[in-house]
Amino acid sequence: MLYTSTRDKSIRVSSAQAITQGISEDGGLFVPCELPKFSIEKIVSMASMPYTERAKTVLREFLTDFTEEELDYCVSGAYRADKFSSAAIAPTVNVSGNKNILELWHGPTCAFKDMALQLLPYLMTVSAKKTAEGKEIVILVATSGDTGKAALEGFKDVDKTRILVFYPVDGVSPMQKLQMTTQEGGNVAVCAINGNFDDAQSAVKSIFTDAEIKKALAEKNMMFSSANSINWGRLVPQIVYYFSAYCDMLNMGKISSRDEINVVVPTGNFGNILAGYYAKQMGVPIKRLICASNSNNVLTDFLKTGNYNRNRAFYTTTSPSMDILISSNLERLLYHMSGEDDVLVSSLMANLNKDGEYTVSPELIAEIQAVFDAGFASEDFVNKTIKAHFDNYHYLCDTHTAVAVKVYDDYVNSTGDDIPTVIDSTASPYKFSKSVLTAVLGGKAPDLDEFDMVDELNRITGADIPSPLASLKSKKVRFENVCDKEDMSKMVFSLLKLD
Ligand SMILES: *Cc1c(COP(=O)(O)O)cnc(C)c1O
Repeated sequence: MLYTSTRDKSIRVSSAQAITQGISEDGGLFVPCELPKFSIEKIVSMASMPYTERAKTVLREFLTDFTEEELDYCVSGAYRADKFSSAAIAPTVNVSGNKNILELWHGPTCAFKDMALQLLPYLMTVSAKKTAEGKEIVILVATSGDTGKAALEGFKDVDKTRILVFYPVDGVSPMQKLQMTTQEGGNVAVCAINGNFDDAQSAVKSIFTDAEIKKALAEKNMMFSSANSINWGRLVPQIVYYFSAYCDMLNMGKISSRDEINVVVPTGNFGNILAGYYAKQMGVPIKRLICASNSNNVLTDFLKTGNYNRNRAFYTTTSPSMDILISSNLERLLYHMSGEDDVLVSSLMANLNKDGEYTVSPELIAEIQAVFDAGFASEDFVNKTIKAHFDNYHYLCDTHTAVAVKVYDDYVNSTGDDIPTVIDSTASPYKFSKSVLTAVLGGKAPDLDEFDMVDELNRITGADIPSPLASLKSKKVRFENVCDKEDMSKMVFSLLKLD
């Protein structure tokens, strides 16, 4: 299996190269040259496997340059029973009728990013051995909250790696901030920036391609790589849980083999839902992929009209991990759906860079609409959904998941399409205790500190508090740096001690 670039399809690299490099030299994203296909029999046979075996069955097809021993080392190290609070790793839970929730937040940082970021350091170090012998890998991360912590936790004290995380100073929840600023490990650093997530992401992207910084790193026998979802090694682990959810639905008796399901994904950078698209293309019987946004509804507009336009107000919402106006992974979808038209993708991305917008042809958007649906939920409805779900089904969901639930309810109301459905749940409600508690209380914001909030939410709802969040209380804050976005590259130099 080889990989190419969305902006230059003459490129051919192995999975190990794609994973260590993170992004193609031309600024494009690595994509598989072709997708492996699974027969329905093979998918059904995965239903009797534990998560780690399901993972190996899928990953084996993509990481063809990994040995079976390497694959086993990576997968069994990542999804260890002592790191995940559910033996199923990513359990599918029935809420009522055809509405099911895929809980992707049982990992060590209580957000779905763990599903990929527990595995990525393994994939990265095995890949680096193959392609970058001896080099130290420097991971730069721009985060809207959850990626940063999950990457720190995945890479902490991993030999021959260092990790720097930048987060928007006012763009993360208090719990997310605490999770990052208290991070342990000898190879980690964290810095807040005065700006929003898109500022942080754009700056990280340009640092990556800055020749001078690269040279300085090379002199120290270091190289950059990325743990953002532009890295193929972030995406490929996510494909697994769509196979796994289908298997769970079979095991729960919600569907029979070959029955289609719908999938709803609370979306930001478009990585999670893109993994669902890959799973569909590989043979998982997914009928529609429903893209759910919060008030930052740039994707809803794109999927409805074909015009992507980031020139709009940016809202800071209660679902901060989806407060994004540039959804990087959409580039990969455009590449695949346009018949691998690298020239078109390059020009669309140049337009986005220059004018902040682009428009695709009516034919292309029609093809995309044949697979994807989209909707968004404003803040008021997010709160109402959390409360209604708790009151009606005793199921407590976080703010991001609530966006998806609301968009799904709207979808069923407007289309009548209520086939068995899996809604991705991307974070533990305790990561966003204040918002969730406020919603459950019907809009009255409680005046409590973050940890009392957690206890109060537990008292009222009875939902278990994840132990990694409870233990934060006793941890020391280690990182208090704040910088302007213009100074991020300077910060990289000083945190890596390159100057
Ligand atoms: C990252 C994140 C998302 C968005 O996922 P994308 O792959 O960026 O679309 C949604 N919810 C939570 C809780 C997240 O951490």
